[in-house]
This record gives sequence, structure tokens and C-alpha cells, in this order.
Amino acid sequence: MKSEVLPVEGWRKVVRFTDEASGLDAIIAVHDATLGPGCGGCRIYPYPSFEAGLEDVKNLSRGMTYKNALGGIPFGGGKAVIFADPKKDKTPEMLKAFARAVDSLEGLYYTAEDSGVTEADLALIRSVTNYAAGMETKGVGGNPSPFTARGVWRGMQAAARHKFGADSLDGLTVSILGVGAVGMELARLIHEEGGKLVVADVNAEAVKEAVARFGAETATPEDAPGVDVDIFAPCALGGAINEVTIAQLKAKIVAGAANNQLKTPDMDQRLKDMGVLYCPDYVINGAGVISVGLEITGEWTTSEMTKRIDHIGVLLSDIFKRAEAEDLPTGAVADKMALEVIARGPKTAQIKAAE
Ligand code: NAD
Repeated sequence: MKSEVLPVEGWRKVVRFTDEASGLDAIIAVHDATLGPGCGGCRIYPYPSFEAGLEDVKNLSRGMTYKNALGGIPFGGGKAVIFADPKKDKTPEMLKAFARAVDSLEGLYYTAEDSGVTEADLALIRSVTNYAAGMETKGVGGNPSPFTARGVWRGMQAAARHKFGADSLDGLTVSILGVGAVGMELARLIHEEGGKLVVADVNAEAVKEAVARFGAETATPEDAPGVDVDIFAPCALGGAINEVTIAQLKAKIVAGAANNQLKTPDMDQRLKDMGVLYCPDYVINGAGVISVGLEITGEWTTSEMTKRIDHIGVLLSDIFKRAEAEDLPTGAVADKMALEVIARGPKTAQIKAAE
């Protein structure tokens, strides 16, 4: 296996690993390790170029620095990408070689699931290196989607309280774009609380299931951002709030699971100007990585996990209040708060979030 440290300014360490025997070509990027080792998933994707993969792993690892800081786990930001098509190129040998690459960093980076990596893949990686988490062991951790859904639901409740003075989601209408692993569970939680649903998905079966289980109304994925609802929940791909959809938006709250919901950074200010309360994506969807973090530190229990997830609502309420007090968009406030956590240093990161 060959490794090459890439000189990337502003990152703690970025290393490219290539292994001819298994076909592995991967980059591991640790953005910031002030609060602890870099922690974040591994994405397997057939990037069109090396530059595209490098750009992605840089953006993703920087995002993890903020997410982990506000998630209250003692980890910095890290992420890995493997240049491969997970459907065609992924082999056990390739995953084992990746695990050796992770291991060679001696704990500077902990890996976990991202698109293209399954729980079974992680178990294989974990058989080679201890620096991996996110697989179910003795009822601890495992598939993060139900946790993520619960965190989004808690965040949505906090937003509804702040924006509408609502005690619950009862009687409110939520449009969910993408009823997959997270979106479907979110739909269940909203339905059980008395909320009404409009769902949209490119997968017709998923839409059918939501209609049958929750009496949801339907919209096309193109129409979903513009339907007349109280809350819009992007739970499919990134970039749901963009130049086109922002003009259609009728919801007064944006609260969903998708990563990178704002196509461009200016959307943060524009949502504020429109009076739309935006729940910063990496805060509201942070429960998955919180679960991974607690698994690594050995603190994972159902009650600790529930406490941490419920804290997402508290944290978002703080962000909303501060955004109002400082006349700033919520995304900018979240970034500021994450940097404050990092500036306070490793000892306070966890305590602060657990309060
Ligand atoms: P998933 O693949 O299970 O579900 C995504 C759903 O979106 C699928 O039903 C898919 O058919 C649908 N979809 C894809 N493209 C679409 C389009 N153009 N229009 C409408 N629907 C479309 O994924 P998931 O695990 O539910 O994650 C959803 C989002 O949340 C992703 O952006 C993911 O990165 C993010 N996220 C997930 C977790 C987690 O714990 N799973 C944690 C943090 C963030």
C-alpha cells in the first residue's frame, strides 16, 4: 500500500492511499482535531476525477468538524472517500485495505458509514482496525437512521414552538421530500403526534407505503418544496433549497435530515429575509454521528442516547434565540457556536452538550 500526504492548507492531515492488489484508491481527510480524533463516515463513490473526490472529502470533513462540535462528542472532523462504484467495484479486499489505511493513522481518524458503505462492510473493516464504529454490537449503536429521524423530529418540535408557539406538531402539516430510511421514520413520528403529511419521493413504493400507513397526501418531488404546508422537511439529497425552490417555498420552517440542504451559502440569509426559520442541517441531523461517538467512547446506553437526541431540540432553541438577538441567519449562528465550542477546547465539549 502506498500513502502520500497531500499538502492541504487548513487541514490537520490529508492522505491518499493506493493499493494495487485490491484496487483501493482512497483519501482520508482530517480537518480539525482540536476536540479529539477526526470522526466521520467513509463514502464510496465513482468520482469523475481525483480533484472531485478531494473536493468532496475536504467539504465533508470540514462539515464534520462543526457537526461533531455541536453534537457534543469529543471528536474533530474527519471523512474518507474511496474512488469506486459501490455496486461494481467494492470487494472485501478493498475494504480490508481501506481498514489498514485507517489503522495506519493510529487513531487520528475513526471511520463509520456513509453512502456506499453498509453495516456489513463496517463489520469487515472493524475486523482489521479498532478505529471504526457504527455497527450493532450487543444492542449498542448500529444503524443510525432511527436516531437521526428522532433528532429531526425533536428539532422540528423546537422550531414549531419558536415559530408558531405550538406545543406539539398536532394539527401542523409537514411536507417530506424523500421517505427513505430517515424520512419514513420521521413521517411515523409526526403522524403519531397528530401532524398531517405530504410526501414526495422518486420511489413510488415508498410513497405508497407512507399513504397506506399514515394517510399522507402526495406531491411530485418537483412540487414538494412549494406545497402549502407549515414545515418543509428535505430528507432526500442535498441542495433542496436552491434558486428555484426558494421562490416556491410557502412553509415557514425548513427542518429535515438531508446534508447540505442549502445549495449556496446565501440561502441562509435569504431564508431569514423571507421569515423562514431554517434548522441548520448538521445540527438537526446530528444524532447519527452522536451515536457513533458514544459507541467509540463506550458511553452508549439507550438513556444517554435519548438524552442526547432530545438535546438537539434544546440546542436548536438556543440557536433560534441567538439568531434573533444578533439579527443573524440561523446557519451562521450554528457555525459561530461550533467554533466557540472548539475554542473552549476538548474538556468542555462534552460537558457543554450534555447540560
Ligand atoms: P435513503 O437513501 O434511505 O432515503 C432517501 C430517499 O430519498 C429515498 O427514498 C430516495 O428514493 C429518495 N430520493 C432520492 N432522490 C430523490 C429525489 N430527487 N427526489 C425525491 N426523492 C428522492 O437515505 P436516508 O438514510 O433516509 O438519508 C436521507 C438524507 O439524510 C440523506 O441526504 C442523508 O445524507 C441524510 N442523513 C442521513 C442520516 C442517517 O442516519 N441515515 C444521518 C445524517 C444525514
